[in-house]
Amino acid sequence: MPKNLYGLTLERLQFELQALGQKKFRAGQLAAWMYQRGVHSFDAMDDLSKELRRRLSNVYSVEPARLIARLNSPSTTKYLLDLNGARVECVLMRHDYGNSVCISSQAGCAMGCAFCASTLNGLERNLTAGEMLSQVLYINDELRAESSKVDSIVVMGTGEPLQNFDNLIGFLEMIHAPYTLGLSYRRLTVSTCGIVPNIDRLAALDLPITLSISLHAPTDELRSRLMPINRTFGLEAVVAAGGRYAQRTGRRVTYEYILIGGLNDSTEQARQLANLLKDQLANVNLIPINPVVERKFNRPTARAIKNFSEVLEARGIGSTVRKEFGAEINAACGQLRNQQSI
Ligand code: SF4
Repeated sequence: MPKNLYGLTLERLQFELQALGQKKFRAGQLAAWMYQRGVHSFDAMDDLSKELRRRLSNVYSVEPARLIARLNSPSTTKYLLDLNGARVECVLMRHDYGNSVCISSQAGCAMGCAFCASTLNGLERNLTAGEMLSQVLYINDELRAESSKVDSIVVMGTGEPLQNFDNLIGFLEMIHAPYTLGLSYRRLTVSTCGIVPNIDRLAALDLPITLSISLHAPTDELRSRLMPINRTFGLEAVVAAGGRYAQRTGRRVTYEYILIGGLNDSTEQARQLANLLKDQLANVNLIPINPVVERKFNRPTARAIKNFSEVLEARGIGSTVRKEFGAEINAACGQLRNQQSI
């Protein structure tokens, strides 16, 4: 079976080309065709000799992600892609300030968060760096047809990226490299449910990546009910790790807080959250919960959302309420994947 070159780093492509007796620079040409021009057939790579194209097709293939399903709303497109047999979701969000893509880092997730559809069937497997790259490139290839491109990336889809650390870093390096999209690290965001040792490992790399930490509750008791990881890494330890990350990188940490009606959206809970984050270089992203069909949670009222945000602001904690991208197309992570497996 031909070996798939799509998703390999430039160094790996150089290795493969050298094994065919070719000069290293040919790998750069191949990468440009695959990653920057969206060409997936050796035949069309017309700056390579016919002989080389023939030899490449004998041994290798170029297999990008394959589309299984797509859902559109005016500002959001959600994709279910096949990546070497794994079904993976990613989302394109069209903002006034550019196109943002949310990708998955794992197929399924082991973390067991109570509000999340992605974890219902557990973890299937880690995605490789190349498979994370493939999600971005699938969308970038589509945008190219409209003379547009991917401007920023959040690793916030299915999976816990810091549980797939080496592949995550490999992906971040690839998407930053000039032979793919060359995105600035400042345009990349990594979201975690709070794997403390790996927050510190990420900080130690000294990359100006935005870190986003999911809190979702202001007390250990409630957070442990919503997010089992809290029994391993409690709130205090997670926020302290966020503080170290901000100090090391100089980047403001975003704390994600899904607002669930009647569960974590009271004035008292807003005060508790503000206390937890006081003195932190932090911003809170409030996310009114999406109706997740498999789980029974209520949406917060508009009044509760406004009140929660005001209580934080009054205590000096900046907050934003996330615009509800794609609620009408089941954009909560894991929903499309789960529907397609029924
Ligand atoms: S919210 Fe994130 S970490 Fe939690 S189960 Fe879902 S995908 Fe996993």
